[in-house]
Amino acid sequence: MSIPAHTTVAIIGAGPAGLLLARLLRRSGIDSVVLEHRDRAYVEQRQRAGILEQGTIDVLRECGAGERMDRQGLPHNGVELRFDRRGHRIDFPSLSGGRAVMVYAQTEMVKDLVALQLADGDPLLFEAQAVAIDGLESGQPSVRYVHEGRERTLSCDFVVGCDGFHGIARAAVPSGVLRTFEREYPYSWLGILADVPPSSDELIYAHSEHGFALLSMRSPTVSRLYLQVPNGTDVADWPDERIWDELDLRFAVDGDWKLERGPITSKSITPMRSFVAEPMRYGPLFLAGDAAHIVPPTGAKGLNLAVSDVVVLAKALSRWHATGETDLLDGYSDTCLRRVWRAEHFSYFMTTTLHPDPAQSEFDTRLQLSQLHRIADSETAAAELAQNYVGTPFE
Ligand SMILES: Cc1cc2nc3c(=O)[nH]c(=O)nc-3n(C[C@H](O)[C@H](O)[C@H](O)COP(=O)(O)OP(=O)(O)OC[C@H]3O[C@@H](n4cnc5c(N)ncnc54)[C@H](O)[C@@H]3O)c2cc1C
Repeated sequence: MSIPAHTTVAIIGAGPAGLLLARLLRRSGIDSVVLEHRDRAYVEQRQRAGILEQGTIDVLRECGAGERMDRQGLPHNGVELRFDRRGHRIDFPSLSGGRAVMVYAQTEMVKDLVALQLADGDPLLFEAQAVAIDGLESGQPSVRYVHEGRERTLSCDFVVGCDGFHGIARAAVPSGVLRTFEREYPYSWLGILADVPPSSDELIYAHSEHGFALLSMRSPTVSRLYLQVPNGTDVADWPDERIWDELDLRFAVDGDWKLERGPITSKSITPMRSFVAEPMRYGPLFLAGDAAHIVPPTGAKGLNLAVSDVVVLAKALSRWHATGETDLLDGYSDTCLRRVWRAEHFSYFMTTTLHPDPAQSEFDTRLQLSQLHRIADSETAAAELAQNYVGTPFE
């Protein structure tokens, strides 16, 4: 692949945000180059999210990346909240105007988008680390990056930082411009993948005196399960049997339900953080996805927010490209942040309602249980959860 020295949109990062943005821009006839620090195998195997909102499903189909998702993804019409040894089902379509979600691993979505990008011959450079963004004040932006041992420069009209929480794009904004908002939680998730059919057709979010647990899945033969653990936990302290025993305790329910065990193929620790940087733009530099905001994974919003950001940005760039109008670009940050803060609140609500804080009192536990009973007993409260979970239509 020949590497251009100039492009209209330089995209840093080949996660869901960067890859999807490149596809959406192509549809509008806008050229772009995607620079990705890691190699292809790493990007395609990194285990992360797995729940797609209806809006995400729709946009993947529209840009030609929905074929395998529609064959292999698992449509889900509800989740179970489990507490006080009982399960309570939240039915999405009846509570949210017919909307639902799809279980399809982020790794699979990334593989589909990479394959399309390469099949069309569009520039996507792996092992290309962006090291600096220059010219943001001069109106002649460029990205310096290292590829095959050489430093190169990509000049462009716009730079989009889709480079995740630890990327360079947000850090390229001069100090004092961005306002940041952050909350850390006093617990993390120990996540496992196991070669065993899921013990439930739908996700189970369990609140228990032993801590939170989540039963999810990646396919009809692969289970994804999570346990709340203290910050600083070392996976080496969690041999397989200990994990299964703890999951049994936390999912315990009256009746004959049983958690099936199987070989664990992966274990990882995810800290829980909420973070927002405002605004999501500085001149010709736009931030999208985890580069601008982080949510704890309890609400399954991180990936979907990354997608909704780039849908808004692609529409704005398309309008600029076709007409020269910058009104949508000027509104990008405000438009995205309305959805971002809704997702921040929902993710915070799900996290703090379902996880016992190690420092919490019996009073706090009673409040959590009261809130969970309210959702189980009240159609209004259940609808609020369902509508946030499936997500509102994208702008
Ligand atoms: C461990 C973990 C587990 C998660 N689990 C869940 C979950 O269960 N549910 C959920 O909804 N969300 C989850 N998330 C969040 C979700 O995966 C993210 O919100 C989503 O990946 C955001 O996509 P993105 O494209 O914005 O960023 P990313 O997917 O982080 O992609 C950023 C890309 O930029 C690249 N990059 C970084 N710096 C540079 C550079 N200097 N030059 C070039 N490339 C660079 C990175 O290598 C990466 O490929 C999880 C996140 C993490 C970290």
